[in-house]
Amino acid sequence: MRRLAWISIALVACAFVGFSKGLAWALAVGLLFLVTFQFTELLGFQQWSKRPLRRPENDRIWTAGAERVHKLMLAMRVRSRGFIAVLRQMQLTADAIPDGIVVMSASGEIEYFNSGARKLLGLLTGDRGENILALIRDPQVHSLINGENQSGLVEFTSPVDATKQIEMRRVDLDENRYIVIARDVTELHRLLTLRRDFVANVSHELRTPLTVILGYLETLTETELGDEERRAALTKLVKPARRMQGLAEDLLTLTNLEASPNPDDSRVVGVVVARILATVVEEARNLSQGRHEITLEADPSLVIEGVSDELFSAFHNLVINAVRYSPDGGNICVRWYGHSEGAVFEVEDEGVGIALEHISRLTERFYRVDLRGARVRGGTGLGLAIVKHVLRRHNTALRIESRLGQGSKFSCVFPR
Ligand code: ADP
Repeated sequence: MRRLAWISIALVACAFVGFSKGLAWALAVGLLFLVTFQFTELLGFQQWSKRPLRRPENDRIWTAGAERVHKLMLAMRVRSRGFIAVLRQMQLTADAIPDGIVVMSASGEIEYFNSGARKLLGLLTGDRGENILALIRDPQVHSLINGENQSGLVEFTSPVDATKQIEMRRVDLDENRYIVIARDVTELHRLLTLRRDFVANVSHELRTPLTVILGYLETLTETELGDEERRAALTKLVKPARRMQGLAEDLLTLTNLEASPNPDDSRVVGVVVARILATVVEEARNLSQGRHEITLEADPSLVIEGVSDELFSAFHNLVINAVRYSPDGGNICVRWYGHSEGAVFEVEDEGVGIALEHISRLTERFYRVDLRGARVRGGTGLGLAIVKHVLRRHNTALRIESRLGQGSKFSCVFPR
């Protein structure tokens, strides 16, 4: 329409000027119209090109070309929205990884990092573009970034939390870029230390009775002994052998308990704890040989759901400990009663007691306040670790109250 109007006006104007002034003037007016028309079209195109996602006007001479550009722009918009969605997804994925990931330029400037790197290395949003060596001043990290470390793997203490140990690995992407991956290996270290200590402890615990047994065996084989002396030497073998047997049994019990967090359903029954405690107290009296006053106050009607032999083992360890760690003449009281919180087990003694600083560590495997004293008393150092696991499997925890030189109370509440 617009083009038609322009042409009509131009023709009428040219005809008018042609008739009145001659052909040359008519051509000049026509040219003027043509230039003005092209100029307004150009202005229109320029205006549209500022926002090419708008539909171009219909009746312009540039409409066909602009349509093609418009369609291209629309397709690009769809594609870039897709890219943005993928980028967002990648960002979310990178942030969900607990390890720290830092993308670096060849000269060591930080280009990108995820939230794991924030947490483990303490990087902040403003650190983008900074050199990582200026932010983490650790010689190990420096050797890794400078390429001096051949293994491409270092360990250092987290600059944010001194209790955390970080493992950092360098992975080259291309000649202009590489990434460093930081991983929290504190727990791994703890487990490795635990395993090393465990092996060392077991070896140590076995060595003492084995040395005793070997000593007597050598005497028996190398020396001429009469029947009486031979029998005496053989009897001496029993105690260390029992000690080793006890250790093996406790280790096996502990391994089984640690293997699964919950007891097997088929083994869970209604347990009459008072009955178990009667047997436990009887064994404690046998061990005490009348050296302690051991009393039992147990409610026979109080029954809990649990694994009978596991509960026996836990109560047995606690009551036997009360005998072992109480001087002659001490009173020991074992109680089992109902309470608003649940069913309560308690064993209270007037024994040697435990200093406050040891209490939180007592349930660690092989932890003993007085190593020599505990060995003489015949413990394996695994008793309270077993108790902890059994109680955890019965939804309760061990409470320890103690005063050095005055006595201790070990208790737990089985929830209703
Ligand atoms: P152990 O076999 O050495 O007795 P446990 O794991 O049973 O090992 O106990 C760990 C440590 O806790 C003991 O070595 C002892 O120092 C302390 N302990 C346990 N029970 C008592 C108690 N009733 N009184 C004082 N100390 C105790």
